[in-house]
Amino acid sequence: MRVIALSAEDDFEGWRDAARALASARVPPSEIVWQMGEHPADLFGDEAVLEPATPAALRVPRAFLDLAQSVILHSDPQRFALLYTLLAGLIEAPKRIEDRADPLVRRLEEMAKQVRRDIHKMRAFVRFREIADDAGPRFVAWFEPEHHIVRANARFFMDRFANMRWSILTPELSIHWDGETLSEAPGASRADAPSGDAIEDVWKTYYASTFNPARLKTNAMLKEMPRRYWKNMPETALIGELVAGARQREIAMVQTARESLGGNIAGAWERLRDEAMGCTRCHLYKHAAQTVFGEGPVDARMMFVGEQPGDQEDLSGQPFVGPAGQMFDRAMADAGIDRAAVYVTNAVKHFKFEQRGKRRIHARPDAGEISACRWWYAQERLLLRPEMTVALGATAARQILGKTVTISAMRGRAIDLPEGGVGWVTIHPSFLLRLPDKARAEEEYALFVEDLKGAARAGK
Ligand code: SF4
Repeated sequence: MRVIALSAEDDFEGWRDAARALASARVPPSEIVWQMGEHPADLFGDEAVLEPATPAALRVPRAFLDLAQSVILHSDPQRFALLYTLLAGLIEAPKRIEDRADPLVRRLEEMAKQVRRDIHKMRAFVRFREIADDAGPRFVAWFEPEHHIVRANARFFMDRFANMRWSILTPELSIHWDGETLSEAPGASRADAPSGDAIEDVWKTYYASTFNPARLKTNAMLKEMPRRYWKNMPETALIGELVAGARQREIAMVQTARESLGGNIAGAWERLRDEAMGCTRCHLYKHAAQTVFGEGPVDARMMFVGEQPGDQEDLSGQPFVGPAGQMFDRAMADAGIDRAAVYVTNAVKHFKFEQRGKRRIHARPDAGEISACRWWYAQERLLLRPEMTVALGATAARQILGKTVTISAMRGRAIDLPEGGVGWVTIHPSFLLRLPDKARAEEEYALFVEDLKGAARAGK
């Protein structure tokens, strides 16, 4: 039996180095015990010496490392062993990581998803309260994460509150920022954190200004703000009042949000994408691997909206990289449009599918899912303000126009959009892939290229 001692609950490097050495030496998972802290050498009366790693003999897909980095942060004590079991299996069958029907892969992906949600919740629900210490004001927050995410989230708070002195206390670990250096201390209790002060008004003001009434339509805001966090959050007292004035606030928010960014559109876009990674507005996040957000320059003149990520996009995290994306690239080149200069996104940001055996078959998003995801599309448009927004297919057309339309009726003409800019509707490139008749497919492809050319002209 080999006993592997890791230095901390989130010790990814320690696990990775040990796992690499063990897997290179073909040590079976059943012979390894993963533990925290000092190595208890005599616990099992056996040695725990790791052979030097032989990296050349061990190649694993990048997707596995990405998965492992998230799963290591999960609170399940089995995570190290589960990951090692998959790693050992990948040596013989590297494609196993792509098998969505594999129970171990599914379990680990679900764990990674739970970790990503916890990271998002910490970012969204931490609330600082002001105290004074010898060096001046300090902002202290209490938070109870479900997983070992505090260190992984530290960078986010350092960037967001760079000029504040702050502390985040959690039961497992406390982190402190003095404006220059991050330090760690043992876990704390709720009683160590202040319970209320003048900064509550600041949070209330902030919350009122960022309140999103669209979320209330699906009751998703309350779902995203679990009651277990409410007691730490002064602004929850405002919810009833905010609901009453929601519509006016929405209009004002749209008018002022972009100006308030101080020109940092790229930074705001990154924060938006990070937030979308933890989205639970509709049920689609439960089965897909990840949110697939838009991609492209934030000063793009043209925005292309597809339907939803496909199987490959779901795995890679990038939009428009599957077969339909490749067809799109080809048509863009034939239309003379610089693909690198446009922004591409989807009407719905999670992959909806039906599992059939090992295959995941695309399923069309319904009206409720399109509507729930409109929040992200609207925010992307608000930030980018493209002159031309091209809807690829019926789902995208519904998203950009806010109503069901038929492609044939709307295709190939400029449409004024209520939020500004011009819209354009054409087919989704996956339509071309489904045409069995070669001559018809070529004909439709040529029409698609003409549509793209027309959109480029109309957006000038
Ligand atoms: Fe959120 Fe859209 Fe995903 Fe639904 S599909 S969970 S609204 S990102």
